[in-house]
Amino acid sequence: MDYDTYGSTAVELAIELANTERSDPGWARDFLDTHHEWFSPGTSFDLSPGEIHRAAATAGLVRTVALAESQADVLDRLNELLALARPRPYATDHDGELHLHYARPDSPALEQLTTTVAMGLSQVVVQHGWQRLGVCAAENCDDVYVDTSRNASRRYCSNTCASRSTVAAYRARQKTE
Ligand SMILES: [Zn+2]
Ligand SMILES: [Zn+2]
Repeated sequence: MDYDTYGSTAVELAIELANTERSDPGWARDFLDTHHEWFSPGTSFDLSPGEIHRAAATAGLVRTVALAESQADVLDRLNELLALARPRPYATDHDGELHLHYARPDSPALEQLTTTVAMGLSQVVVQHGWQRLGVCAAENCDDVYVDTSRNASRRYCSNTCASRSTVAAYRARQKTE
């Protein structure tokens, strides 16, 4: 990943949220725990059932933005997502590097999550184009990704899917020869 050309890594949080398995009711808590570095210290990760439902809706919206096939569709869905955000940006160097946080530090976890995800995703779309978002080309995988490669050549969600597909294509070629 080359983050140097991007103002923010928050888009990665959006992608990971969209790709998170949500069948287990504990998914939201697990997601917040594993991504705790995105939240203000002391933020409670105990979401109400209603908040978990809204977090899932946010995840679904990120996915629809990534799957949209026209700029008009992207704008509609992105603006739906942005309408859920309550940005109040501030600058910080808590990890040693000067950067922006998008959400009020004392806001609830859901508000921090939705705001960070919406702002991170929309920054990439407006600065680098909606074509930077896509869905994995590997068989049996429909995870979404953001393409941060210099020449916009990404097709897979992960190196695992990329190498799995390379091996499958090689085997298929060998069979026909
Ligand atoms: Zn930070
Ligand atoms: Zn994949």
